[in-house]
Amino acid sequence: MDSESTSERRDIYAVLGSPDSRFPVEAPADPKEARRLKGGNSFYCSTALGGCGGELTFAIGDVNIPHFRHQAGSRCSLISSKTLADRYTHLAIQEALRAWIETMPGFSCRLEVSIESGRTDVLVTGPSFEVALEVQRSALSARNALERTAVYSHRANAVQWLYAFRDIDAYKAELADRGWSLRIWYGWAKKECRIGVSYETETGAEVEIKEAGGPLTDWDISFRGLDSVHLRKAKAAVERLRATERERRLEQAREEAAREAAEKARKEAARLRHIADQRAAHESLLRALQHTPEGLENKWPSSWPQLKGSPGQVSWAESIRARAVALLREELVEEWLPQARGVPVARWLALQSSAAFWIHCRFNDTFAFVQAYEHQFGSPWHPQR
Ligand SMILES: [Zn+2]
Repeated sequence: MDSESTSERRDIYAVLGSPDSRFPVEAPADPKEARRLKGGNSFYCSTALGGCGGELTFAIGDVNIPHFRHQAGSRCSLISSKTLADRYTHLAIQEALRAWIETMPGFSCRLEVSIESGRTDVLVTGPSFEVALEVQRSALSARNALERTAVYSHRANAVQWLYAFRDIDAYKAELADRGWSLRIWYGWAKKECRIGVSYETETGAEVEIKEAGGPLTDWDISFRGLDSVHLRKAKAAVERLRATERERRLEQAREEAAREAAEKARKEAARLRHIADQRAAHESLLRALQHTPEGLENKWPSSWPQLKGSPGQVSWAESIRARAVALLREELVEEWLPQARGVPVARWLALQSSAAFWIHCRFNDTFAFVQAYEHQFGSPWHPQR
């Protein structure tokens, strides 16, 4: 059942007049139209497409849809080929292109022309240039398309691919890379060939693929290849889209740079603020040290030494010393601590210039200093012996 219907589908193609004819036909499904086509014509399996060249019977009955039939027992590799429909359609398109090109003054056209290792589908010769048109109906990788384009470019001023289907990899790659790609359609019923263009365009925020095109008469051929109002419109849309994308990328880069600059400025301001805060704290420590308490003139140490140690240790020790000395001074001024006990401790502390001394003493109150001093040197009341 399956193979029957498949073979019937395949059997609807033939060439008209002779085995090597370049006039392909598709049997119309309508018997009346089929009879009109049949007329006094003869139909053959195409040798140009690799067929057997046998004359075919055009069967138009009341039950089966019109179809062509090989002679019983004929051996033909084309009839069993899965690409039979594609081959006849490819031939029809080549012939449609040739017929159209030959109507243009100053133009001629040849099919299947060998160029180095390749063979181009349609080679258009214009007034002073040649253009290769490749009709692609089967799978083709982007890499293969580029390689073949390079080969044909040795002769042709322009090489253009006309894709029949959107699932061909080379088509997708060309569309993604260039933003547009040419398409070709063929309708058997009206023997109509159309060329169109798929192109990227922006609708709102989305990138969309649109199609535009028309009959062959909408198109011209120059040394740059095919051209038409459809293609110019498509190229303009792609240019607009790509300009918008470029602008968007630039805008993003500008925003990113502005953000980075603001962040850098913020960090720098914080760093300067931190330095200023540290300096102010340091200065206030030094001022506090230099201040001679009232009532202790001539008794209070006249100067406090610059501490020695690493910058980190010195800064840490300075704040410990400032706290400790402020506390001692306050207790002396308030007379909580008698001058006889407190002043010697202050003079002793004024001799300590090592940052490590202050860091390691870890005293929490004045009394701890007084005890440490008296433990070492004796108290006014209990002098050490
Ligand atoms: Zn055949």
